Amino acid sequence: MLLDGKVAIVTGAASGIGFGTAKRFLQEGAKAAICDMRREAIDEAVAQLSKFGTVCGFVANVADRAQCDALARQVADAYGRIDILINNAGITRDAQFYKMKDEDFYKVIEVNLFGTYNMSKAVVPYMMEQRYGKIVSASSIACIKGNFGQSNYAASKAAIMSFTRSLGRELGKYGINVNAVAPGFIRTPMTDAIPPDIMQQKIASIPLRRTGEVADIAAAYAFLASDQASFINATTLIVDGGMH
Ligand code: NAD
Repeated sequence: MLLDGKVAIVTGAASGIGFGTAKRFLQEGAKAAICDMRREAIDEAVAQLSKFGTVCGFVANVADRAQCDALARQVADAYGRIDILINNAGITRDAQFYKMKDEDFYKVIEVNLFGTYNMSKAVVPYMMEQRYGKIVSASSIACIKGNFGQSNYAASKAAIMSFTRSLGRELGKYGINVNAVAPGFIRTPMTDAIPPDIMQQKIASIPLRRTGEVADIAAAYAFLASDQASFINATTLIVDGGMH
């Protein structure tokens, strides 16, 4: 198993890619601590995931620094260490730029970028102490190609890519690998609202002629979080079926 005995935090894990990643990690032998915004959603996710291994759930808003610190402390108290952080929590608030409300620009940066910062800041002291850690964050192909109506989202995901490069350079000497995954078009609740005709156009633009599935991204996270990827650092892995 790729992650036998490792302790992994997955943020935004009540849904979509986060949920699928937590499931894959449990199947790979990790102990998972999952967080999301709502108690009921977390309880439901824990109930489903506990079939696959040891999992505990926390309500935490990654945009809130104090909640991230408290989460890391609770996980370290419960499991004795923190080996892996998957910064998966993310949101969209799409609008064409001239119509975009300030609060929607700020909110996306706050959750996606500051959330990644907050959780990384919270776990790094434990990882430095252990001289071991893997941080893998959710970027997006949108940060490279740009997306119509997503100036806020694309900016947040580009920042995560740069953040990853810098953090990997700084933390490598402590045995901490820092990487990101840039998914292309993945079928999840975040993309379910896309109208069928737009969906068909998107699929036509993907050389593999299918959308990505949650399992495709979970597999990339599992690899980058494992010791199989121990010489991969400060990079972003594009997982988009060749779309870019
Ligand atoms: P999703 O909406 O299904 O899941 C996101 C989860 O994050 C939700 O459960 C939500 O409640 C949680 N969340 C939101 N704000 C939070 C906060 N402040 N604190 C804690 N949890 C919070 O989305 P998804 O499609 O599974 O996307 C997961 C990640 O992958 C996101 O960062 C997204 O930007 C990225 N991504 C997705 C795609 C795609 O095509 N689905 C493509 C590229 C990147």
